[in-house]
Amino acid sequence: MKDEETAKDADRKIHPTPHLDELEGGPWPSFITGIKRLRDQGSEGNQKMMNDLLGQLNHSYENRMGYWKGGTVSVFGYGGGIIPRFSEVAKQFPESKEFHTLRVMPPAGYHYTTEILRKMCDIWERHGSGLIAFHGQSGDIMFQGCTTENTQKAFDELNEIGFDLGGAGPALRTAMSCVGHARCEQSCFDEVRAHRTIINKLLDEMHRPSLPYKFKFKFSGCANDCVNAIHRADFAVIGTWRDDIKVDQEKVKQHVKEKGRKYTIDTVISMCPTRALSLNDDDTLDIDNKSCVRCMHCINVMTKALSPGDDRGISIMIGGKRALKIGDLMGIMVVPFMKLETDEDFAKLEEFAERVVEFFADNALEHERIGETIDRIGLPAFLEAMEIEPDPNMVNHPRTSCYVRTDDFDTEAEKWFEKRAAEKAAETAAE
Ligand code: SF4
Repeated sequence: MKDEETAKDADRKIHPTPHLDELEGGPWPSFITGIKRLRDQGSEGNQKMMNDLLGQLNHSYENRMGYWKGGTVSVFGYGGGIIPRFSEVAKQFPESKEFHTLRVMPPAGYHYTTEILRKMCDIWERHGSGLIAFHGQSGDIMFQGCTTENTQKAFDELNEIGFDLGGAGPALRTAMSCVGHARCEQSCFDEVRAHRTIINKLLDEMHRPSLPYKFKFKFSGCANDCVNAIHRADFAVIGTWRDDIKVDQEKVKQHVKEKGRKYTIDTVISMCPTRALSLNDDDTLDIDNKSCVRCMHCINVMTKALSPGDDRGISIMIGGKRALKIGDLMGIMVVPFMKLETDEDFAKLEEFAERVVEFFADNALEHERIGETIDRIGLPAFLEAMEIEPDPNMVNHPRTSCYVRTDDFDTEAEKWFEKRAAEKAAETAAE
């Protein structure tokens, strides 16, 4: 059998892939298995492309070198959205010498019909390699493996079924929103509408890159933050509420009866980060809502008994990003609470988003994310530019000393306001 297989492989000139085979050994599905499936079962053109792709990848592992280089590939009317990849070892692996990626914006909330998915697969079988990643780190659908010649054809067909290119380069990037209120009972706002409202408004910034660096929006319906907005988005919109957590005491009792008091205390009561919970002797729950920081933990564990309050809205955090030049940053709380229900609320969000992007375009240095800009110029300067009053919720981290002297505080505050008024008067006089 082995001899037969070897003969068949030799006949199809299959590149040996000893290094890549190792990657199939672990417990998780392997991308190598997927590429091999396309090599063996894809259309004829795709089989050849995948075979050479595997050959090049194995060659890379052997020499510990990457052999892709960039370039410029685009489609009519767009400045971004295509990631060009040209092979440096095209002589050895000619079929995959051009292997560009089309970044395509997914629908908000990632809601697809199977019909649309089939159409996408057919288009990519016709014009690309057949390899699609749902979804890349950027949130896009990654149509991987296209020749320069076919890029326009693939885009035109994808565009015809209602899809548009996402962002690449120094531009507004494709946004992400969680599955949201369509499927999730913890959702605190209409994520899909917020997502589409902002992206549609700022689409030019995505298709014609003109910013100093990337800018990403992400929308999570609650603090569980299923799209990692807090640490992955320059502009994170996260659902929250400002009234009390809703409690069904009968369901609390049922939970305690089923799971036991010790289990409930260990997994819910003592896990509350602000000690806002206490379990009464009769197995009902008390919540000190003023101390609650809306972390979602108790609600996640006692899903039937607890739910977010009725007065729901959003918090906006700016400047999150993993591994910046200045270290990792979580988004800074800039708008602690804002309602997002009426047309006016959405218009307000849109206007604020525009103001932040404009500020970023005008003030960030080349290759600097907005979190770094704020770190460089200071949060007060950013807040002033955004016309937002400072708020105690805008803390970087909780203070480490609980002793804060407040005597003479009012006098100091008065001095500060007088100084600011004098500065403003001087500015006006200078104009
Ligand atoms: Fe505590 Fe978090 Fe529950 Fe608020 S949501 S009561 S902070 S566990």
